[in-house]
Amino acid sequence: MNKNNPSVFPMGDVLPKQFSPYFTGTAYLKTLTDKGGPISNVTFEPMCRNNWHIHHVAGQILLVTGGEGWYQEWGKEAQKLKPGDVIMIQPEVKHWHGATKDSWFSHLAIEIKIDGSSNEWLEAVTDEEYNKLK
Ligand code: MN
Repeated sequence: MNKNNPSVFPMGDVLPKQFSPYFTGTAYLKTLTDKGGPISNVTFEPMCRNNWHIHHVAGQILLVTGGEGWYQEWGKEAQKLKPGDVIMIQPEVKHWHGATKDSWFSHLAIEIKIDGSSNEWLEAVTDEEYNKLK
């Protein structure tokens, strides 16, 4: 049990190394179910965020379960997230998600799996962009 866990779901372990190029800071992953639409609990330490990315063909649903975070779509203002928020990410929309500067943050990520769906990782969210968020 990690005392920083902002969620009722288990934090799991540090994200597998294969994801490190696509995250700034440390995130934790617990796969809750890999059947149906796979559901993962993702926990971000303060300032941790993923790179800009695109879910191709099918989107992703985020259910915010703890702390305070950000969601931003390319060309739009970042949106502050709190527990209970639901984000429906449409396919082909470039975006990122992660914690605020001062808070741990957790969401359940529900993948929508259909034939040909994939994830494309793009550039990191720079400190300059991130530090502007209030
Ligand atoms: Mn996403």
